[in-house]
Amino acid sequence: MRFHSFLIKYGEIGIKGKNRYLFEDALVRQIRFALKDVDGEFNVHKAQGRVYVDCEGEYDYEETVESLKRVFGIVGICPVVRLQDNGFEQLKKDVEKYIGEVYPEKNQTFKIEARRSRKSYPLNSMELNCELGGVILDAYPEMKVDVHNPQIRLNVEVREEIYLYSEIIPGPGGMPVGTNGSAMLLLSGGIDSPVAGYMIAKRGVALEATYFHAPPYTSERAKEKVVDLARLVSRYSGPIKLNVVNFTDIQLYIYEKCPHEELTIIMRRYMMKIAEHFAKQDGCLGLITGESIGQVASQTMQSLMATNAACTLPVYRPLIGFDKKEIVDISEKIDTYETSIQPYEDCCTIFVAKHPVTKPNLERIEKSERNLDEKIDELMQTAIDTVETIMVK
Ligand code: ATP
Ligand code: MG
Repeated sequence: MRFHSFLIKYGEIGIKGKNRYLFEDALVRQIRFALKDVDGEFNVHKAQGRVYVDCEGEYDYEETVESLKRVFGIVGICPVVRLQDNGFEQLKKDVEKYIGEVYPEKNQTFKIEARRSRKSYPLNSMELNCELGGVILDAYPEMKVDVHNPQIRLNVEVREEIYLYSEIIPGPGGMPVGTNGSAMLLLSGGIDSPVAGYMIAKRGVALEATYFHAPPYTSERAKEKVVDLARLVSRYSGPIKLNVVNFTDIQLYIYEKCPHEELTIIMRRYMMKIAEHFAKQDGCLGLITGESIGQVASQTMQSLMATNAACTLPVYRPLIGFDKKEIVDISEKIDTYETSIQPYEDCCTIFVAKHPVTKPNLERIEKSERNLDEKIDELMQTAIDTVETIMVK
């Protein structure tokens, strides 16, 4: 069957009044972005309180649906057959053909749901339901009507043209990106942080990202991997501005001046401070990390408290209560897993202590950090001034 349009279903809770426009406009914008590289020409528009994707001419159906399935805010995607109104006799033939092609398995129950926005149409909705139901029963005797709980609900909408649709392909849910401000993701090359970014973007938050690398201890390839991950996340979140911060001198300085068992926590605190600097500069409303309680020494409750104290913006940790397995499942679903497990060095693992503190005491950490007083401000400023910015889309 050839589908000419998609009717986009979205959740409507909490989007009354002015919010509804913001929500729909953001949804339209995100759909356009998602379809930018798909084969075909698409007209994404709002009509009668709904959002439609009209496909002009030839297009790649599978790729279109896959792309729409990544647009947050979409609850369901209905492929629509659009027909010219060539009289009721033709409509009967078209409805029969639709069921014939879309449902090879005929042993199913159905219901026709007709609606007319064009009231001049010669049959009213009830008549359309009865007549078209009769057409299907005649053509496919195995099919039965069930008006309460049908397996197939065939919508017939009479407007300028006539729309037929019955399938609902589930969308990702959530809210359109851009309806809830933006946040700064601390993006490493691991499994967790891309998933964390995905989860916050799902709630309508646009993403920026900051990656800390430590050349020559971490390679160009490790950085490329992070760019690749940002690109995979951007398929859901829209464009991501990625800050690549050279962290080497700061790490070496901490390594030189601070107790080795506190290295990871102190490094993490400086990452938060630098990420927060870029976040505030760009109006981000929070930071995002892939931390989860107890996953490693630097993510015990005490460690999280010490890390958290380094910045003032709220830190969103959407994976906080997740087991690794649950995080891996999501990373597989969103297609970041294979990239995340590529074996490139991470700046944290290179400088990691054999026996890191698992219960850091904030006062002690702050005391250790005083050993950095002489040069740390200057090093942070240099790291900020030499940031490399990559627009990922
Ligand atoms: P991930 O799989 O996201 O790398 P992880 O289990 O390796 O997480 P950690 O290395 O302890 O965990 O890092 C915790 C969080 O700190 C990460 O999820 C990420 O948000 C941030 N982070 C760690 N290293 C970096 C880095 N090099 N650049 C940017 N953010 C980082
Ligand atoms: Mg990591």
